[in-house]
Amino acid sequence: MSKFLINKYQSLDVYTPGEQPKDMEYVKLNTNESPYPPSDGVLRAISDEEVSKLNLYPDPECRELREKIASLYSVNAENVFLSNGSDDILNFSFMAFCSDEREAVFPNISYGFYKVFGDLHRVSYNEIPLKDDFTIDVNDYVNVGKTVVIANPNAPTGLALSCDEIERIVSSNPDNVVVIDEAYIDFGGKTCVALTKKYDNLLVVQTFSKSRSMAGARLGFAVGSKALIDDLNRIKYSTNPYNINRLTLLAGSAAIDENDYYMDCCMKIMKTREYTKKKLKELGFTYLDSMTNFIFARSDKISGEDYYKKLKANGVLVRHFSNPAISDYVRITVGTDEQMNKLFEVTEKLLSEC
Ligand SMILES: *Cc1c(COP(=O)(O)O)cnc(C)c1O
Repeated sequence: MSKFLINKYQSLDVYTPGEQPKDMEYVKLNTNESPYPPSDGVLRAISDEEVSKLNLYPDPECRELREKIASLYSVNAENVFLSNGSDDILNFSFMAFCSDEREAVFPNISYGFYKVFGDLHRVSYNEIPLKDDFTIDVNDYVNVGKTVVIANPNAPTGLALSCDEIERIVSSNPDNVVVIDEAYIDFGGKTCVALTKKYDNLLVVQTFSKSRSMAGARLGFAVGSKALIDDLNRIKYSTNPYNINRLTLLAGSAAIDENDYYMDCCMKIMKTREYTKKKLKELGFTYLDSMTNFIFARSDKISGEDYYKKLKANGVLVRHFSNPAISDYVRITVGTDEQMNKLFEVTEKLLSEC
């Protein structure tokens, strides 16, 4: 830290991204990326001709891609906001809709970035405990009168709320924004995008990073009432109007054109997920009923930390969280069947040594 950094940033606990060690080849099951490549159209969209236009700024309105997303989700283009990854949109949401007076609430076990954004923008926030079974108690959020941020399905638990439950939260807080982070919705959950037509306080955030195989391109979008989208645009046009680069815009458009490919990949991942659950059970693990592309699992035979460390030593990366409430668990991204078989092979070996 330099002596120049101003006070409010000195004590900030920053977000820790999943590790990307380069010392050997790992089976990478730690950051919930898709194991499948982008579709052919995406590869074709990044042509030499398009690369040669990088001297020109991208379209700040992202019109073509917004229209495509709007049509896929049956909303209007004015209801769609695009940004450089959904983290960017969550950041903007904390800036726009939370403050020291406008408190935020989110589950105490959820996406770690909510807390970081809260701290960064000096927001007062309240982390609401999950129930003992790691589910969200919807009643905690009904009529709460604060800005609500919920990942649905939640991370790292993988558990999902129904649209009816989300609607109870949204309808009972008409004077507050409810942000639903649907980063993992395409793996078997049901999106509540349609509710944005009925409620002007609902903002649904999605990303191309998980189900659309484009984590490296950085693209996220939000759907909400025109007024909420205008609010986000105020922030975008006050920070970085060109926050999505030309190549990512092209890749995103091509990905929406080939939506079927991605939904097929999601089906494959869901199939592998169910296969993985079965195998983990045979190995004596318990896990939460994931509706995502990861499984939150634990074993009585080996601690979460030990399991994580020994997997890593054997070339398999998973995510472990030191928070004592969940430190028994590891979060395992669902990869290909082949990647999972490697995980099982190493796990069997490790358990036999316990
Ligand atoms: C991965 C993830 C994001 C961030 O996605 P990007 O679009 O890559 O920034 C947001 N929310 C949750 C819950 C995630 O797991």
